[in-house]
Amino acid sequence: MAFEDFIDAQKIEALLSGVKEDAGRYREIFAKSLEKNPLNLEETACLLAIRSEEGRQELFDAARRLKQIIYGNRIVLFAPLYIGNLCINDCAYCGFKKSLKSTIRKTLSKEEIIQEVTALEDEGQKRLILVFGESPLYSPGFIADCVRTVYSVHSGKGAIRRVNINAAPLDVAGYKTIKAEGIGTYQIFQETYHRPSYQKYHPANTVKGDFLWRLGGLDRAFEGGIDDLGIGALIGLYDWRFEVMGLVSHALHLKEKFGVGPHTISFPRIQPANGLEELELPYKCQDEDFKQLVAVLRLAVPYTGMIMTARESPEIRNEVMHLGVSQIDAGTHLEIGGYSENSSAQNLEREQFQIGDTRGLDEAAKWLLEEGFIPSFCTSCYRAGRTGDRFMEWAEKGLINRFCTPNALLTLAEYLQDYASLSTKEAGRALIEKELEKMPEDAWKENIKNKLRRIYQGERDLRV
Ligand code: SAM
Ligand code: SF4
Repeated sequence: MAFEDFIDAQKIEALLSGVKEDAGRYREIFAKSLEKNPLNLEETACLLAIRSEEGRQELFDAARRLKQIIYGNRIVLFAPLYIGNLCINDCAYCGFKKSLKSTIRKTLSKEEIIQEVTALEDEGQKRLILVFGESPLYSPGFIADCVRTVYSVHSGKGAIRRVNINAAPLDVAGYKTIKAEGIGTYQIFQETYHRPSYQKYHPANTVKGDFLWRLGGLDRAFEGGIDDLGIGALIGLYDWRFEVMGLVSHALHLKEKFGVGPHTISFPRIQPANGLEELELPYKCQDEDFKQLVAVLRLAVPYTGMIMTARESPEIRNEVMHLGVSQIDAGTHLEIGGYSENSSAQNLEREQFQIGDTRGLDEAAKWLLEEGFIPSFCTSCYRAGRTGDRFMEWAEKGLINRFCTPNALLTLAEYLQDYASLSTKEAGRALIEKELEKMPEDAWKENIKNKLRRIYQGERDLRV
């Protein structure tokens, strides 16, 4: 069967090599983006051509402003839960690749999933992404069972209110099976949009060696009824500027074909992993370039959520957060079964790669508060059916800030009441008061204050 190739590599290369830094032009593009308009490939290439220090500072300022306009100061928190690391593929960069004999293979049983989710809920997590290797064992039916098990766990006042998935691309019937369990985002990273590099890192005799099967993975998800899609590229396999153009091409393709762009974009950088010592990575993306990558993506796809994971160190997260990130994971453990063990040591034979930020959820929440962000555990949109084109319509009416900030505050208040340490609680309460002060005195504010009071008295899961 032939699959569509919507990545025009020749055009991307021509745009990247044909454009020079031009302050007049990039300022026009900032203005377009600050009006919340998505950028095309030519405009994206102009922002990628910025090389001067002054140009980069202007770019970072524009990205910060756009983030503030659309998202305010909320950061949504989640945790990844690795279900199993069996894998039939041999991706050169991954600690789960099948040829790696030293990797300790494990798949969580139902009881173990319950233990893990209990530990996650007891820490205060509300949103999870379930992560799987690729194996015949991890069939759509198996993934659906895992989702059902996760939603069934209620430890104390805890509940997981949104389960996202990062797993292999499926066929349309497979996506339908999983969708039926009420998942949020289905996330597939293309790894690299540059075909020769894709071929280099993914052996041709593996399932993942098929570039177009993967590229069409989210088209099939949409056809299977999932309209909440996450794209991503593993930064470091090829030139990061090409990958940004690939991600923007992917976003434009989804919008054009289905009327809905991706819900999230991820840009993980390759990290050390078991068995990776010999791997040559000539395209490593340096920190300054990484900042530009995030800022350009922020401006190119204004309404898309941007995810920065705990692969990055606290220092990098601190800087990059301000440039347009809207979601991070916190309290992350990648060892399979690692949440219920609660050990802070990383063991690379038991995990996919090494993470840079090992802080617990409470510490991360406190750090966000100190930086002036609202840690949010909100799941309202997805539970109110605002996904896909309904979310876009809503976002384009400028309603994100009106609803999301109050809902972020309500979920933060719950977290503070049930799980936070004393110092996080104090910092959080102070931030909630500060945010309330910014709101005009009207019935809407009264409604929010009333819901906050009810939360402090013990009610849970309230939203506006
Ligand atoms: N096995 C499925 C797949 O490949 O699509 C599920 C995803 S895999 C468990 C999650 C993602 O981790 C991959 O898509 C890849 O981008 C990323 N990853 C793999 N090795 C990595 C490494 N060494 N450093 C950082 N990210 C890595
Ligand atoms: Fe398997 Fe995914 Fe790792 Fe590739 S990236 S080896 S498919 S787990």
